[in-house]
Amino acid sequence: MNLREKIRNIPDFPQQGIQFKDITTLLKDGKAFRLAIDMLAAPYKDKNIDIVIGPEARGFAIGAPVAYVLEAGFVPIRKPGKLPAETIKYEYSLEYGKDALEIHKDAIEAGSRVLIVDDLLATGGTTRATVNMVEQLGGRVIGLAFLIELSFLNGRQVIAGYDITSLVEY
Ligand code: 5GP
Repeated sequence: MNLREKIRNIPDFPQQGIQFKDITTLLKDGKAFRLAIDMLAAPYKDKNIDIVIGPEARGFAIGAPVAYVLEAGFVPIRKPGKLPAETIKYEYSLEYGKDALEIHKDAIEAGSRVLIVDDLLATGGTTRATVNMVEQLGGRVIGLAFLIELSFLNGRQVIAGYDITSLVEY
C-alpha cells in the first residue's frame, strides 16, 4: 500500500498558489487509514507515552487513534474560544496567515511524556506553538509525528532537536 497515492493535491486552496494536500481521500480508505495510524504509533510503542496531543481539526482525526493504539490519553489543542475550561494561548504564523491556539491549563501534568501528532508539517508554526504550550505546562515532548512533511518549507528547523517522524514527504 502506497500512502502517497491516497493523498489528493488540490491546487490554489485555500489561497492562490497553495498546493493543498487533502488527506480526506486517505482517511476514507479503511486500510490506508489503519496503516497510517499504525506507522505513526510504531516508533513510540516502547516510549511510555502518557499523552498524545493533536491540534484542531485534522490533528484530532490522526492523533486520537494514535493515542488509542499507544494506550495514552488524548488532549486537544483548539482555536481560541472553543475550549470550555481555563486555557493558555499561543499566537503563531501559518503557511498562509496568522493564528492562535489554546490548550486547557490542567491538560498536562508536570513530567508527562507527550507525543504531538498532526496531519502535516509545513512551516512548523503550529507545531512550535504546540511544543511551547506543552513545555510551559511542564510536559516532556518525546516526539512529533506527521502523516505528511512539506520538507521544502523547512519546518524541521523550527523544531530542531526533537524526534520527528513523517510518513510521506514532498
Ligand atoms: P504549519 O504551522 O507547519 O505551517 O502548518 C501546518 C498546519 O497547517 C497543520 O495543522 C495542517 O493541518 C495545516 N496545513 C497546512 N498546509 C496544509 C496542507 O496542504 N494540507 C493539510 N491537510 N493541512 C495543511
